[in-house]
Amino acid sequence: MLYVSTRGKTDLFSAAHAITRGLAADGGLFVPQNIPAMRMVDIKAMERKPYTERAVDVLLQYLTDFSEDELRECVNAAYAPEKFGDNPVPLVQVNDNTGVLELWHGPTSAFKDMALQLLPHLLTRSMQKTGETNKVVILVATSGDTGKAALEGFADVPGTQIIVFYPSEGVSDIQKQQMITQAGKNVKVFGIEGNFDDAQRGVKEIFGNTALSDELEKKGYTFSSANSINWGRLVPQIVYYFSAYVDAVKAGKIAAGDPINFVVPTGNFGDILAGYYAKLMGLPIDRLLCASNSNNVLTDFINTGVYDRRREFFKTVSPSMDILVSSNLERLLYSVTEHDAARVADYMKRLNTEGHYEIDSDDLKQIQSQFFGAWVDELETKEAIGRIYNDYHYLMDTHTAVAWRAMEKYRFLTSDETYTVVLSTASPYKFADSVLAALDDAQPQSSNPFELLQKLHADTGTEIPPRMLALENLPVLHSEVIPADKMELAVVKNLV
Ligand SMILES: *Cc1c(COP(=O)(O)O)cnc(C)c1O
Repeated sequence: MLYVSTRGKTDLFSAAHAITRGLAADGGLFVPQNIPAMRMVDIKAMERKPYTERAVDVLLQYLTDFSEDELRECVNAAYAPEKFGDNPVPLVQVNDNTGVLELWHGPTSAFKDMALQLLPHLLTRSMQKTGETNKVVILVATSGDTGKAALEGFADVPGTQIIVFYPSEGVSDIQKQQMITQAGKNVKVFGIEGNFDDAQRGVKEIFGNTALSDELEKKGYTFSSANSINWGRLVPQIVYYFSAYVDAVKAGKIAAGDPINFVVPTGNFGDILAGYYAKLMGLPIDRLLCASNSNNVLTDFINTGVYDRRREFFKTVSPSMDILVSSNLERLLYSVTEHDAARVADYMKRLNTEGHYEIDSDDLKQIQSQFFGAWVDELETKEAIGRIYNDYHYLMDTHTAVAWRAMEKYRFLTSDETYTVVLSTASPYKFADSVLAALDDAQPQSSNPFELLQKLHADTGTEIPPRMLALENLPVLHSEVIPADKMELAVVKNLV
């Protein structure tokens, strides 16, 4: 399997190259030249396999420059029971035609662990394959979840170093605590005086500073990114769509071969795109429901074909979906235009220069035949958490609630009652303040995040993720807060 750029010339690259580089030299994203097909018998055979072997089956199709044994080693290390428990991605049946796929049983209690636990293993082996001898320095700007998941993934991975920048006043207390207590000889974490955009701009400037990267290249350092545009972050996500499907068959909810729907709480369009690839591979998926919060740029896009980022930015109770530019949409456009790189490059250029673009009506029809877009406001999100808890005793976080409510809107509009899997992307404990408020608006809120965990536990009897509980007593290892214009200096001074 070889890879091309979405804005591309005709050059072909290995999977190892795509993973080592992250972004193509022409600014496009790496995509597989064609999508491999899985036969129904092979999908059915996954039913009897543990998650790690299901992952080997899927990854082998895409990462053909890795041997089966190599992939098995990577996957076994990434999804080890001491990190994810015995079943990394349980499918919980909440009612007759709805299952919730819990993707947050990893070390940081957010679904980004699914990809970021595996990426470091894929990356270090890709480096060996491409002859990269420099140390890879991962730079991350984070609004919360990505930073911690990347830190956990890369901590003490030989041949790598990771530096994370977060807005010092712009992440939740638990998220901050998770990051500033991170152990590991190769990790550094800095708070930024500014917001997420300042942190992101700073990282982009460092990536764009060719004089700096040339100089560091000679000293033995190469910058890379753990951002969701990296193919090595996307490909692990395809696996759990297959896993959910065969678990639904196993549970007797569907027969093998029956089509099902998935609903995905969406931000950067990485998670749902992985579902689209699973569908192209032959997994019987009918509809992919794209759920957004008040930042509803994708709902509008799917409904009208116009992508317009010139709009108000809302801070919501589902902050990991507060995004106006969904980078991975570029890969979908490449697919629906039947690999028309020139057209994709034109759309992306217009997005950059004018802030909006409109796709051809044929491309729109293609997208509408596969996707349904719906958005959910703040009140609806909280209402769904309380109601689903009351009706089914199932506790959801805010992101999952957006997906659930979007599914209800879809069912109401279409009367389609097909069995549907809701992707659950975070533990409710990660957003305990909003979840508690949703369960009981009147209750007084503590400002101590650890009291909130205890309160949610007392109110619902659900288990607090042990690692989150342990944070309270971990020593703070990274207390530095720096001005946004000192980020480059911080990187240069902290290379090890
Ligand atoms: C990142 C994230 C999302 C959005 O996923 P994308 O792949 O960016 O669309 C949704 N929920 C949570 C909790 C996340 O951390």
